[in-house]
Amino acid sequence: MNKPELVRPPSVDTVLRSPNGELAIARYGRTAATDAIRHVIERLRAGGQAEPTSMERLGRLALDRLEERERPSQRPVINLTGTVLHTNLGRALLAEEAIEAVVATMRAPTNLEYEIETGSRGERDAHVRGLIKELTGAEDAILVNNNASAVLLVLNTLARDREAIVSRGELIEIGGAFRMPDIMARAGATLREVGTTNRTHLKDYAEAIGPETGLLMKVHTSNYVVQGFTAEVEPAELAKLARQHNLPFVDDLGSGTLIDLSRWGLRKEKTVQDALKGGADLVTFSGDKLLGGPQAGIVAGRKDLIAKLAKNPLKRALRLDKLRLAALEATLKLYRDPDRLAQRLPTLRLFTRTVDDLRALAKRLQPRLADTVGTSWTVETIDCASQIGSGALPLETLPSAGLALRPAGKAAGSAVEKLAAAFRAVPVPMIGRITQGALMFDLRCLEDEALFTAQLDALKPETPDALA
Ligand SMILES: *Cc1c(COP(=O)(O)O)cnc(C)c1O
Repeated sequence: MNKPELVRPPSVDTVLRSPNGELAIARYGRTAATDAIRHVIERLRAGGQAEPTSMERLGRLALDRLEERERPSQRPVINLTGTVLHTNLGRALLAEEAIEAVVATMRAPTNLEYEIETGSRGERDAHVRGLIKELTGAEDAILVNNNASAVLLVLNTLARDREAIVSRGELIEIGGAFRMPDIMARAGATLREVGTTNRTHLKDYAEAIGPETGLLMKVHTSNYVVQGFTAEVEPAELAKLARQHNLPFVDDLGSGTLIDLSRWGLRKEKTVQDALKGGADLVTFSGDKLLGGPQAGIVAGRKDLIAKLAKNPLKRALRLDKLRLAALEATLKLYRDPDRLAQRLPTLRLFTRTVDDLRALAKRLQPRLADTVGTSWTVETIDCASQIGSGALPLETLPSAGLALRPAGKAAGSAVEKLAAAFRAVPVPMIGRITQGALMFDLRCLEDEALFTAQLDALKPETPDALA
């Protein structure tokens, strides 16, 4: 018996001169193309290649490798999780108006910190301060990187080496390691917890006030609800108490909405205006949660306090860049026309999609999905419940519809996980949710049907059947 001869692969140079080699050079440059071809040849050599490999195939392998390396690390995905403001998927989608504003700002120098009329130095926050004042009734406002920064800046400015009084029921931890006690410590403030987990009374705050007190703070319990035998102090009462002692009262709203959501049949969430009217001296909130804008932290409230924040050197470290300022300005302007907000602001548009529309969408997509995954899986249209996400309205769900994929017969326990992984491996990854042995696609955040079906074409046809 003859041992098969090992085939000598062609040289790097010959592959570079082949059509695919030339294509690789044209697309990615000579250095990268040479490296990729060398890598492919070395791999074949190491594998003891017995079959001759065509020049065409070598070039194709090199092109595949180059293409994969070039693919952006952060790339679009299809959010089928049912969570609209999904922190891990980038929270709010920007309105077209905001996207255009960002692009324009990227392409040219701008008057970011320049007063065109006078030709003198300007101030970056001035581009949105007026809008925030107009929309919220606040005396003044200041912008930072995100709401965690806003809280840090407020505490560091007003409670450094002093005590910040907070209810035990509000010592929140938000995903991604935002823990109120840790932020306090880093801000140099001493946390003075009052009350108990479920009940805090006005006298608990009153008794804690002393010469060391820097401020009183209320924190929105964004991602949980304390239910049952509970008591919390109305912000208005806290504000009154703070005023009696000449202390600032800070209300960390977290999500921070500028408009009464009950207008669209959603549950009303306390707005920034409500918090200010309720007596908060400063209100802190995020740009990319319910507001539907870019990541940002906004502090609105009393002019003298905002002036103190502006003087803190941390403000410089936490400032917003010109791109996000542009996106925020354009987003805030949409709020001037509430009648069209639900069409123009993607976050609100997704919140307000009706279950009837989503059911119809599920019915349209069902046959196509069933066809793709084959007979080893059942594909059902289902009613489900979407979540707002990002710690806004934690118990509020939105009636929704979607598709559930289950193994048709007996299947290995890992079959559904493998199916979910196959859907994540398509060019625009489809991210669903596994519950009760089913892969669920909530369709609330799917606006581009064609994008969905195009991914099904890319799902390896043998994959689903092989998995069941
Ligand atoms: C989300 C949230 C924060 C943090 O806001 P980011 O913009 O994510 O930094 C702080 N406080 C509360 C109450 C929140 O809900």
